[in-house]
Order: sequence, then structure tokens, then C-alpha cells
Amino acid sequence: MSGGPAHVTGPVVGVLALQGDVREHLTALAAVGAVPRQVRRPEELAAVDGLVIPGGESTTIFKLAAAFGLLEPLRERVRAGLPVYGSCAGMIMLADKILDPRSGQETVGGIDMIVRRNAFGRQNESFEAAVEVAGVPGGPVEGVFIRAPWVESTGAAAEILAEHEGHPVAVRQGRLLATAFHPELTGDHRVHRLFVGMITEAGGATGADGA
Ligand code: GLN
Repeated sequence: MSGGPAHVTGPVVGVLALQGDVREHLTALAAVGAVPRQVRRPEELAAVDGLVIPGGESTTIFKLAAAFGLLEPLRERVRAGLPVYGSCAGMIMLADKILDPRSGQETVGGIDMIVRRNAFGRQNESFEAAVEVAGVPGGPVEGVFIRAPWVESTGAAAEILAEHEGHPVAVRQGRLLATAFHPELTGDHRVHRLFVGMITEAGGATGADGA
């Protein structure tokens, strides 16, 4: 140690930047001390300590991920233990199984859950509701639901962190986190802080430089 201030840098966290609310996630990640990076290519995916799959349209994200040669690399990194957080369309991408897929639509998978696309959308295209999320201190978060999915069922390994009207809307399995709502749109970064904490626990933080 030279005696100067330690250069503490957060983990490098990618945001899958094919479609959706990429910029909002980059801002939220920077706000909680991560080093955000856009990910569009396999080489960029290989260089991150964690990844966010944003909200947007899961059918489009799937098609572009396939076209960019990212689907198999994504599956491999998830299998190898990469921490990944998916919001809304990203939740759909992390589900092992989806109901109401567009024809041919596949997911990355990783969380043992069945997710129903557009589940809340049938009654209500878009709404906000206070959601208490296990592991997020400081009271409920404002859940922004936009043509949101819900979790129809979970396997034993998946932990339900939050429910809305009896439907699971936040789930964690190991290093994978998914929410049906969009914390990136609210300016409240507690869910991103939870995720970056998961990356740090997984050993993804670079910590104090040179220490
Ligand atoms: N309904 C969208 C889908 O199927 C998800 C909507 C969202 O991400 N806000 O991908």
C-alpha cells in the first residue's frame, strides 16, 4: 500500500443491449457502484462479472440474441454461475419455461420457474403497486408493471422474494434474480443494490486495486 486512498471499484456489470430499457439499467448500476457496460457481442459478455437483461420485448430480445450469436454463450455463462438479473422481459428470458410464447420463442433459462407472458396485461396494461421484496431493506419498492409477466409456478430451488395479488413477481435462484416489474424506471436503486451485492458475494468485485 502506498498510503494513498485505495481504488475500490465495483464489479463490471453488463446490460444486454439488444432492445429495451438499457440506458435506465446502466444508470441504476452506476448509482450503486458497479461499472456498467453494454453487451452486444460474445466477447463483451465474456468480460463482465454480472449481467442485466432489461425490460422490453422478450420475443425481440430472443430473436436478436440468436442473430448476434449470444444465446448459447448466455446459456453457458448462466450454467457456469454468472450472476444475472432480469426485469420483466428479462425475467421471461431467465425462465426455464414460458407460457404463451410467440412461436419459436426460446429463453436463456436458469431459474426453475414457469412464467406467463403478459399475465397482468390482460386486466391492466400497466400499473404501479407497492411491493415488499425479501432481501430489500427499507420498506416496499414501487413496482412498475408494464405488460408484465407473473410466475405461474416455481421449482424447489427457486425462492419467491415478492408477490403481488397472490402471484410471485420476484424470484431468486442462486445467482439469478428476476422481477416482473421495472425498478430501473423508478430512481429507487435498492433492487440493483441487492443484485450487485449478489455479484460481490460471488467474488465478482475487483475490490481494492493492487491489494
Ligand atoms: N410483455 C413483454 C414480453 O413478453 C415484457 C414487457 C416488459 O418488459 N415491460 O417480453
